[in-house]
Amino acid sequence: MIPFNRPYMTGRELELIAQAHHNGHLSGDGDFTKHCHQWLERRTGASKALLTHSCTAALEMSALLLDVVSGDEVIMPSYTFVSTANAFVLRGAIPVFVDIRADTLNLDERLIEAAITPRTRAICVVHYAGVACEMDIIMDIARRHGLRVVEDAAQAIMSSYRGRPLGTIGDLGALSFHETKNIICGEGGALLCRDGDLAERAEIIREKGTNRSRFFRGQVDKYTWMDVGSSYLPGEISAAFLAAQMASADDITARRLALWNQYHAWAAPLEGEGRLRRPVVPAHCLHNAHMYYLLLPSLAQRDAFINSLKAAGVHSVFHYIPLHSSPAGLRFGHAHGALPVTADVSDRLVRLPLWIGLETHLPQVLEAATRALAS
Ligand SMILES: *Cc1c(COP(=O)(O)O)cnc(C)c1O
Repeated sequence: MIPFNRPYMTGRELELIAQAHHNGHLSGDGDFTKHCHQWLERRTGASKALLTHSCTAALEMSALLLDVVSGDEVIMPSYTFVSTANAFVLRGAIPVFVDIRADTLNLDERLIEAAITPRTRAICVVHYAGVACEMDIIMDIARRHGLRVVEDAAQAIMSSYRGRPLGTIGDLGALSFHETKNIICGEGGALLCRDGDLAERAEIIREKGTNRSRFFRGQVDKYTWMDVGSSYLPGEISAAFLAAQMASADDITARRLALWNQYHAWAAPLEGEGRLRRPVVPAHCLHNAHMYYLLLPSLAQRDAFINSLKAAGVHSVFHYIPLHSSPAGLRFGHAHGALPVTADVSDRLVRLPLWIGLETHLPQVLEAATRALAS
C-alpha cells in the first residue's frame, strides 16, 4: 500500500539528538530551542518565535494572550481542524463559524463583517493547504472593528502572501511540526508574535506563568509567578530533531512542490473534461505544497474514487467534517448563516499522497487515479 503520508527524515536528526544528549540539557529552551527560535525569526521576520508542544498549544497561548474570556466570540471557518475552535472554547469563548471561499477553501472574507457583533473579539483564519487567506482585506476589517487576528498557520510554514510569510501578518501565528506537516519533529509547533508587544507575556505564559525566561537571561535575579500560564515548551530532543529539519526546509519545500506540480499537470486535462476541480493558488500567494487535493463532482464519486485507489494499493483520504454541525460545534459554537460551501467541499474533497520519496511511486498513483476517474 502506498501510504497517504510518510514522515521525511533528512538524515541529520539522530546526529543532532546525540548532540542534545551530550549537552546534558534535556528540558526546554536550551541551545537547540534557541537555534530554532532564531531560524524562525530570521525566516519569517516575526519579532518573537517560541517553540511549543504543538500548534494546538500555540493556539491556546494565543487565546490566553489576547485575554479572550467567557462569552467572547471568535470568527473562524468551520472547515478546519478541531484545535482552531478548542483553543478559544477552553477560555469559554464562542466560535462563530463562517463559510469558506469556493476557490481556495479559506475563510470567505466577504462574509466576515456580517458575522461581527459587539461580543466579537478576534478572527482566527486558517491557511488551508498552505495557501494564504485574503489577509489584506481581513486585516483591514480587523482594524476597522478593533479585532485581533490569529493565524492558524499549521499547514503554512514557508508559504507567503504578497511576499509576507504566513503566521506573521495577524497579531499572532501558530505553526505545526506534527509529523503530517512539511517540517516535522513528531509533535511540535511554534507561536509567532508579529510585534514585540505580546512577546514578553508570551514567554511568561509559556513558562507556567513565571518570568523564568528573563531570569535565565540574567534580566532579573529570581523568578516568580507573574501571570496565568501553563507548560507549553518542548524539550531539547524535539528541538534537535526540528533543527535538522529546518536546515533542509528549502530542499523539503522544493521537493514537495515538484510532486505537487506533477499532480497539477496530470489533473489539468481532467479538469478540462469536467471530471474534477484542481486546487486554486492565487498569483499573489506562494504556497508550500502542503497538500494536493481534488474536488470530485459528488460525495458518491469521491467515496468510489477513494475505494478504487485503495483497491489499487493507494491510500487517499477525505478531510474535515465541518465543525459547525459536529456535536461539540453545536454545543459550543454557532454557524453564521448557512455554510453551503463548507458542507459541499467536505463531501467532495479527497487528498492524494504527497511525501518525499513518493517520486518513484507517482506513476502508480497517477495511473490508479486516472483509472478510478474513468470508471
Ligand atoms: C495540524 C493542524 C492543527 C494542529 O496541529 P498540532 O501541531 O497537531 O496541534 C491545527 N490546525 C490546523 C489547520 C492543522 O492542520
